[in-house]
Amino acid sequence: MRIDAQQHQTKNNHMPQPLNEFSFIESLRNCSASCKSLEIGIGDDAAAWRVAEDSLLVTTVDMLMEGVHFTVPPATPLQVGRKVMGVNLSDLAAMAARPQIGVVSIATPRKYGSSFLQELQAGMQQQAEKFSTTIIGGDTNIWEGPLVVSVTLMGTATKKGVVKRSDANKGDWIFCTGTLGGSILGKHLDVTPRVREALFLHEKYQLHAMIDISDGLIGDLFHILEESNKGATLFTDKIPIAEAAFLMKESQLIKEKKSPLKHALSDGEDFELLFTLSSQQGEKLLAEQPLDIPVTHIGIVTEEQGCKLHHPNGTQTPLTKQGWEHSF
Ligand code: ADP
Ligand code: MG
Repeated sequence: MRIDAQQHQTKNNHMPQPLNEFSFIESLRNCSASCKSLEIGIGDDAAAWRVAEDSLLVTTVDMLMEGVHFTVPPATPLQVGRKVMGVNLSDLAAMAARPQIGVVSIATPRKYGSSFLQELQAGMQQQAEKFSTTIIGGDTNIWEGPLVVSVTLMGTATKKGVVKRSDANKGDWIFCTGTLGGSILGKHLDVTPRVREALFLHEKYQLHAMIDISDGLIGDLFHILEESNKGATLFTDKIPIAEAAFLMKESQLIKEKKSPLKHALSDGEDFELLFTLSSQQGEKLLAEQPLDIPVTHIGIVTEEQGCKLHHPNGTQTPLTKQGWEHSF
């Protein structure tokens, strides 16, 4: 998950390099190369390794930190528990894997007491049960620091294997589930991982590439494009903007005022699916609308690298991983 780049202060006056999560992860990529049974290593939403000819295990870990991913209050321990399990389930959904078991690690502040801890665990359990996942172990620590919770999940690939970030093709249609933007007004504490939707789509259609939207639509689309060595055009008038994105303007919580479209393009924590498939499969999906939530055709994969926004008046805005350089 994204954390802002920060500079560490050390006591020995040595000026450290600025920290960037993504360049650090990039530097780790070769670490897993020696693992022969590994099919997907560092760089996707989860890793996958073959334990038997017909069995591909999929695993992911994500940690949430008080003050970064949530604040207590307003977040209740139940909500934090549901969220940390939900974001991990969302990463398995991004691979179209079936979640099965989890282990959890908790560092809880002494001042929160025992009922807080029980509620936190109950939140994780409730969310896990909804998706047929069992918590089979963990680690609990009490300290004077803030609340930190980490969940590791394991699941299995279906017969069709997993869906990676790296298999988008030129001409693919880009889709997302649900609506996007404004998650800070509610969804970020009420995560609904799209596990069932991902498994259903994977079974009925030939998905090419997939990711869950945790860092924002543009940021996560760039992950697919970079892994697939492709570019994309997004249609601004097709982006499904969440009601919450329209409410952001009035919210006292938000200092920087942006248009609802910009919220939909860049806000994190939507936990919707972003995926690509051939235009033929895309047309079929669009016509069938087989889910309880909308699936929307928002763009097209191009051979030419880079990403641009196509406006209804025919103009285009180039996008960068960070967002956009020109106003629109
Ligand atoms: P997501 O936002 O989907 O949770 P991340 O950005 O957290 O994904 O991680 C991207 C990739 O980097 C994943 O494959 C993850 O397993 C890997 N990764 C992140 N941190 C480390 C680390 N310290 N050591 C090894 N792999 C890591
Ligand atoms: Mg992810």
